[in-house]
Amino acid sequence: MKNDPTIDIDIKRAPTSKIDSIDFENLKFGHIFTDHMMTCDYKDGSWQAPKIMPYGPISMEPSAKVFHYGQAVFEGMKAFKDDQDQIWMFRPKDNFNRINISAKRMAIPEFPEDYFFTALDALLKMDKDWIKKGFGNSLYIRPFVIATEPGVSASPGTNYKFMIICSPAKSYYNGEVRVKFSEDYSRAADGGVGFAKAAGNYGAQFYPTNLAKEEGYQQIIWTDANTHSFLEEAGTMNIFFRINDTLITTPTNDRILDGITRKSLIALAEENNINVEIRKVPVQEILDAAKEGTLKEIFGTGTAATVNPISGFGYKGDKHELPKLTDSYATFFKDKLMKIQYNLAEDKHGWRYLV
Ligand code: PMP
Repeated sequence: MKNDPTIDIDIKRAPTSKIDSIDFENLKFGHIFTDHMMTCDYKDGSWQAPKIMPYGPISMEPSAKVFHYGQAVFEGMKAFKDDQDQIWMFRPKDNFNRINISAKRMAIPEFPEDYFFTALDALLKMDKDWIKKGFGNSLYIRPFVIATEPGVSASPGTNYKFMIICSPAKSYYNGEVRVKFSEDYSRAADGGVGFAKAAGNYGAQFYPTNLAKEEGYQQIIWTDANTHSFLEEAGTMNIFFRINDTLITTPTNDRILDGITRKSLIALAEENNINVEIRKVPVQEILDAAKEGTLKEIFGTGTAATVNPISGFGYKGDKHELPKLTDSYATFFKDKLMKIQYNLAEDKHGWRYLV
């Protein structure tokens, strides 16, 4: 997966850098973008040479299929800088594989691995000053693909654009996160696109999430579409429940994203002798455990937040607050994962990738 020097990238540098105008201490997640972006067009049945150019608007016809049929997929990954100024990514091959899994489901042509890593390496090296040292600082990387072909016939396009944009990020702290267990709305259905990072999966969550916000929750934990009685995942996070000292998380399937943080955490739990059960999680079991006092923690896992503790939840009018623990698994795993990401701990699994 290393970059390939035989691949020609057409590079146009930004005449000046915006970096001096950025307040790196007060970054709002995903609002500022680096000086450059990668773009690569698909036409005449193949991906053309990747280009790196100054970050900025792109022009498309109003009839481009992405605007009408939502033919778009994306990824989210991060780069970190260690004390020796080396740049690391965390399991980027998994993100690469996943964007192609998503693309296939949305009838988008798969992107070549050598283009992806060669262009990504070049882009990160050009914008390396945007990756700040220090635990918690990172560069959030957003690869995405859109159908650019003009025409409003409801059929897949033959022209696409693959792009990578990058946004500097500080340690992600969401404040107190209270979640609502979904009672009526669904995120994904059997046979659908829940497992793909398809753009429409996210847009469709905004309205029910706004309703939950009006009730005082920040996010929703989605339940299965058929019965609403099993807990599945949150908006951009997989979810873990700790009952006594056992972790429980639902298996991934065609409704649930196969999160990279989730599977890393399962591996870390196993090697640290923390029992993990990968099985369906009935809402009733969590309600009962909360009443009995055996529900110790709920947390979400995902690239943006790494591990995000949940402080309380609500379901059908019942509200529960979770205890504040001094020996929280969420804190334990966040620290373990971040130390691997920042090259501060041994990387037994070969998860780090040197840019
Ligand atoms: N579920 C959904 C729906 C997501 O969008 C994400 C973020 N990619 C996750 C889970 C977490 O996945 P990862 O750990 O790979 O970021």
